[in-house]
Amino acid sequence: METKKFDCIVIGVGPAGLSCALTLKNAGKNIAVIESAELGGTCLNRGCIPTTLLLNIGEFLKKIKSANTLGIEILDYKINFSKIIEYKNSVINIHRKGIWQTLKNQKISYFSGAASFIDEHTLAVAQSDNSIEYLSADIIIIATGAKPAYPAEFTNARNYFLTSENIMDLTEAPKRLAIIGAGVTGCEFAYFFNEIGTIVYLIDTAETSLPIKIDSEIHQIFIREIKKNKINTINAVSVSSYSIENESVLLNLSNGDSLAVDKVLLAIGRAGSIANLNLEKIGIKYNHKNFIETNEKYQTAQKHIYAIGDVAGKYLYAHTAAAEGKQVAEIIVGIRDNTKFNAVPFTIFTYPELAWCGLTEQEAIDKKINYKKSIYHLRGLGRAHTLGEISGLVKFIVDADTELIIGCHIIGARATELIHTVQLAMNNNLKISALAELIAAHPSMSEALMETARLIED
Ligand SMILES: Cc1cc2nc3c(=O)[nH]c(=O)nc-3n(C[C@H](O)[C@H](O)[C@H](O)COP(=O)(O)OP(=O)(O)OC[C@H]3O[C@@H](n4cnc5c(N)ncnc54)[C@H](O)[C@@H]3O)c2cc1C
Repeated sequence: METKKFDCIVIGVGPAGLSCALTLKNAGKNIAVIESAELGGTCLNRGCIPTTLLLNIGEFLKKIKSANTLGIEILDYKINFSKIIEYKNSVINIHRKGIWQTLKNQKISYFSGAASFIDEHTLAVAQSDNSIEYLSADIIIIATGAKPAYPAEFTNARNYFLTSENIMDLTEAPKRLAIIGAGVTGCEFAYFFNEIGTIVYLIDTAETSLPIKIDSEIHQIFIREIKKNKINTINAVSVSSYSIENESVLLNLSNGDSLAVDKVLLAIGRAGSIANLNLEKIGIKYNHKNFIETNEKYQTAQKHIYAIGDVAGKYLYAHTAAAEGKQVAEIIVGIRDNTKFNAVPFTIFTYPELAWCGLTEQEAIDKKINYKKSIYHLRGLGRAHTLGEISGLVKFIVDADTELIIGCHIIGARATELIHTVQLAMNNNLKISALAELIAAHPSMSEALMETARLIED
């Protein structure tokens, strides 16, 4: 068998694999990348980019609906769902081509097919024409991402029980949609479909929607807004059974109720994409959710094989995947690495948006940190009024002994942009006074950071 040799091989061209490959190439390595599906990974094809595009369309619709208040009379409008999906696909295609061109320009060898380990240094790539390409390298980086969990009981009704992998390929919007799982993905889809007129039921076994680790004041506002947006939430129940009747799904819930819908979105978590890799053969360990076990340098049980991004199961965000890709490449080539993960921003693109970094107040309490806090409500801000988005707040948590910011939590307009100023301050150990001394442009949402910082008592 003929084997092509490289310094490093990266499996998977999502944010983690791409940033890793580009950093390695910049450092002079001879690189191959292997991708079994479309370039760009989940983020570009079935994640961040298409969902935020759809949520942006939802936000646009929200503005149309309230245009009257602004003195604009919109007499009629119609949603063309298949055109929305076409538009989404066109945006994705532009970026896929961009990645392909980057790989070409950078002279990175690209193999299209599913990679599988033959031994610790050799991979077989099964290509679409059934031929097999053999590649070997001193160093291999696994960046194969994650897939939505799909319980076996729904496999007989795959046309009705969708996931984030295929719901954005529907050509017609469901009239009634049940979303099982009210985490980040479930909530984002709930907002989009609700805005385009679908009747949405957001179901979770937890007592509340968005049962994740976020600051309690932010969570309270989130719950208030979800109600204001008239999304139907059903909590503390699970789906006991289902049947398909007259082309709709009848969900029987654990509280005795039943619900008839056209489609169901399963948003109940993700598991590492390790199918095909043949990890057992080379002794690489993974946990019960198929996330590969690594040390702090991203090394697997085989020290020359690394795992980064979603498949390593740490953050499940694109920007952290890309940061891990860059960091692992720098570790491999011995470049001094300055990547800091202590103030990684987390974001949710609902209406209003959520963003946070650092510790929640509860975590500060649990860690027995001597902290102080400040909260500023966005309704006090001119820019929030000019945008017509006055719901929300900014909250700072500051170490009372050092005056360093240890947490920031934002819900409101532009939250997903504002958070980066705070990330920069935290990464560079700036005291809260640095934000209090900002001369933020007026009127801007950034003034909220300045005002909140000024509210921290001395
Ligand atoms: C609906 C949704 C919305 C999201 N929104 C956001 C958001 O707004 N912001 C954010 O930061 N994150 C978001 N995410 C998460 C984000 O998409 C992921 O964290 C990110 O894509 C992970 O990057 P990755 O490179 O680790 O994996 P992926 O992007 O999943 O890329 C892995 C690649 O490996 C390929 N692959 C798998 N197995 C093999 C194999 N054997 N051989 C060759 N190739 C293989 C896959 O085809 C895939 O292209 C969202 C996710 C979802 C599902």
